[in-house]
Amino acid sequence: MKLKTSREPERDPERLTAVRNAIGDEPEIFTDANGALARKEAPYWARRFHYEWDVRWLEEPVSSADLEGLRMLRDRGPERLDIAAGEYAFTSRDFVNLVEPPAVDCLQADVTRCGGITGVLEVAGLSATRHIDLSAHCAPALSAHAFCAVGRLRHLEYFHDHVRIEQLLFDGTLSPDGGALRPDPGRPGLGLEVKWADAEPYRVYGARPA
Ligand SMILES: [Mg+2]
Repeated sequence: MKLKTSREPERDPERLTAVRNAIGDEPEIFTDANGALARKEAPYWARRFHYEWDVRWLEEPVSSADLEGLRMLRDRGPERLDIAAGEYAFTSRDFVNLVEPPAVDCLQADVTRCGGITGVLEVAGLSATRHIDLSAHCAPALSAHAFCAVGRLRHLEYFHDHVRIEQLLFDGTLSPDGGALRPDPGRPGLGLEVKWADAEPYRVYGARPA
């Protein structure tokens, strides 16, 4: 279970307590600060998240452009709290910067931003040779296909907003089965077909392809 944090840090204790009470002790809590914390305050919240609510994942505690800040948290933060980033990596060089030397415990990649299937495969090679797991960022209907080819895939983010929009606009989206998304090999390509009629109310410009 993942929640956004740190935009209003003073509210996080109450929000994390509500989540922990709602899901019980067993499920892991992941957090995503979207780079909202300053380098100076991030270690304080990393410790509190982990030791008070048993948070296991802290995504972009500081800006993902602050490689030194990420590295500090990765190396000196709680040992069972994974530091993650990579959703804003677009080129191979962006990913190399996150792992040489390692600034994250788990790398993230977004198939819609990093160069599609080809880009994901490049990142997969990097994660394998650097012994760093890779997590699929959002776009679950696409990610499920692309990341089947990733040896060190740790997980795929099943993000509510993306799921809602994918189901609204496409036939062939996937639903979790036992906690996993399994592409249907009986459908061509990515298994998706645009539902043009359902998409029509959202048209902003241009013509419908023939
Ligand atoms: Mg994120």
